[in-house]
Amino acid sequence: MNNDIIEKAEKCIVNTYKRPSIVIEKGRGCKVWDTDGKSYIDFVAGVAVCSLGHSHPRVVKALCSQADILFHVSNLYYTVPQVELALWLVENSFADKVFFCNSGAEANEAAIKLARKYFSTNNEKERYKIISMERSFHGRTMATLSATGQDKVKKGYDPILEGFDFVPFNDIDALANKINSSTCAVLLEPVQGEGGLWRPAPGYLKEVRKLCDETGALLIFDEIQTGIGRTGKLFAYQHFGVEPDIMTLAKALGNGLPIGAMLAKEHVASAFVHGSHASTFGGTPVVTAAALEVLKVLSEEKVIEHCGRIGAYFMERLMWLKSRHSSIRDVRGIGLMLGIELDTEGEPVVNKCLEKGFLVNCIQGNVIRFIPPLIISKQEIDDLVLCLDEIL
Ligand SMILES: *Cc1c(COP(=O)(O)O)cnc(C)c1O
Repeated sequence: MNNDIIEKAEKCIVNTYKRPSIVIEKGRGCKVWDTDGKSYIDFVAGVAVCSLGHSHPRVVKALCSQADILFHVSNLYYTVPQVELALWLVENSFADKVFFCNSGAEANEAAIKLARKYFSTNNEKERYKIISMERSFHGRTMATLSATGQDKVKKGYDPILEGFDFVPFNDIDALANKINSSTCAVLLEPVQGEGGLWRPAPGYLKEVRKLCDETGALLIFDEIQTGIGRTGKLFAYQHFGVEPDIMTLAKALGNGLPIGAMLAKEHVASAFVHGSHASTFGGTPVVTAAALEVLKVLSEEKVIEHCGRIGAYFMERLMWLKSRHSSIRDVRGIGLMLGIELDTEGEPVVNKCLEKGFLVNCIQGNVIRFIPPLIISKQEIDDLVLCLDEIL
């Protein structure tokens, strides 16, 4: 069965992913099953997406009920779930306005376009440069790969978009030297995800905010991976006492349904007027009804508080692991966005974990990343840590 599907996949699916030889058929909570009936504890969660675990009953119900009422009418009309979701986001963040789209890259596209439109509307057309960070990841579309600080993402796609500069993350002097009156925005992930789980240095984000205020540049936080509870707070910026002007969300917002959102302060958002930007599917009723239910479950069931506590426990266990294995160079991250940096290739470790019934993933060649559902239990963490102890 597995082999048959994999053979067909090789024939008909574009070869952009290297995948293991299993076919996942079913998911429940923190577990998935392959077509041979083997189960795995999922420490990938669809890349930090399925924060409430797989097929959460309340999300399934919200999705099915809305599908029975209204699927899609486009953004030419108002719909109830979209407005309710936007209101929830506005009431629980720094932002005044929300634009919905379908993915992280699209949310960042909207943010980049809005930042440029803002200055062009204010008669500062020369002010279009965006500074982002080395090691950052912002997506795979032309504008978002141009904003990404990793060569491997850009290779082969020249000419990339003009107007993007890069500075090292956590180097405030480098930013101070680069930022000026031609800077339209500084774009960064408050905690870098794909780039290797790097936290901001103490005070760094406050200094970035200050430089933006002094030069008049906008501050954009890409919280596509850090947002919606992953770090132990609803949004990562809440750890650091710094608010952006624009923020992007996607991944966990729909627990697996494709949704992206760009949030902004009123004076910035007002640069988008009728016809400035659009999306056919963005914020469609089925997806927004499900996303609203995700947010309700997160707050009613105190999932984010659990993430903070269990993340701290997980970090402790990883430090214990590091004390036993010199092959672990570093343990990094925040909340349930954790990783261990190895002094060797990570892929063999990922494959051994898979054999033993755990899904984990490797970034940057040697960082094993753990981004499980936020409902992960102590027992499941203990099981993984013991498995890693054996493998290493
Ligand atoms: C995943 C990710 C993106 C891209 O999101 P897509 O939905 O894959 O387009 C952008 N920024 C960050 C920080 C991400 O983690």
